[in-house]
Amino acid sequence: MIVEMRTGAPQVEVDDVVQRAKELGLGVQLNLGTNKVVVALLGPNTGQLPIDIFAVLPGVESVTRIMKPYKLSAREFKRDSTIVSVNGVQIGGKRIVVMAGPCAVEGEKQLMAAAMMVKEAGACILRGGAYKPRTSPFAFQGLEEAGLKMLQQTKQQFGLPVVTEVVAPNDVARVSEYADILQVGARNMQNYALLTEIGKSRCPVLLKRGLSATVTEWLTAADYLLAGGNDRVILCERGIRTFEDTTRFSLDIGSIPVIKKSSHLPLIVDPSHAAGHYSLVPALAKAAIAAGADGLLIEAHPNPKEALVDGLQSLTPSDFARLMSELKSIAEAVGRYI
Ligand code: PEP
Ligand code: MN
Repeated sequence: MIVEMRTGAPQVEVDDVVQRAKELGLGVQLNLGTNKVVVALLGPNTGQLPIDIFAVLPGVESVTRIMKPYKLSAREFKRDSTIVSVNGVQIGGKRIVVMAGPCAVEGEKQLMAAAMMVKEAGACILRGGAYKPRTSPFAFQGLEEAGLKMLQQTKQQFGLPVVTEVVAPNDVARVSEYADILQVGARNMQNYALLTEIGKSRCPVLLKRGLSATVTEWLTAADYLLAGGNDRVILCERGIRTFEDTTRFSLDIGSIPVIKKSSHLPLIVDPSHAAGHYSLVPALAKAAIAAGADGLLIEAHPNPKEALVDGLQSLTPSDFARLMSELKSIAEAVGRYI
């Protein structure tokens, strides 16, 4: 952490900064310029210290953090990439893991048909929301527990692990009974009560990036899960809000290499919510794999025309099967397989 003193700050103010740093057990390096003093504060946990501790002291012009605020999700904390194993499916290894299915569980027949489509195309995890956090309170909110039961039934029949969203801290225990991966939706990335509850669970968790969250905020949110003892965390890039309105969100392809460099956690990309339109999904999916993602979360529906939620961005069974086959050569080109 770097504390820059105001020009001409008296020695007593510099001494105060040094004193405070020492109270906190930090090392101090003084840089005495001709008319300005810069104090470097050294210690293993300066990334977690609030900068306000120093910013409020008299004579302080600015405080700059050098260490990152996230810790447990950082690559510096754990050099080797984390592999999260979900019922035998390794996420973060050489294999590109594709999770696919409808946005929402709509009924038994729909889910069975979706599972068939997912399995036949070679994807290995079924997605489907039983609790849907919708922008409007009047939109379909999901089948809730009945939807969870359908997911469980389908999972038993097809042998596909399922990923499904949990929206409330009180639901974590119940949803974990049915889900193989708990999904934290973009709108809940900073719902700290929810993250804390999931941190206590040992169920794998897919943490979506918030609509307007920076990579640093996203990794700091992941620290909530890891700090609680849940080390089975998977990140999911799903696009962010920008001024661009030709896609639903802007898929931040740049975050993929950034995450790979900064964090040891596996990273999945959701091209569907970023694209907002089925015709754009394949190109974004391919770009994500080419850029180093460990897998994809794709909305596909047995009959998108009848989907209750997100039909426009859902792939048909034939489009999904084609994409799965086209992804093979992309995966190979980057030393992976699907
Ligand atoms: C979803 O995956 O169904 C979903 C609601 O996504 P997001 O939270 O990214 O909007
Ligand atoms: Mn959706």
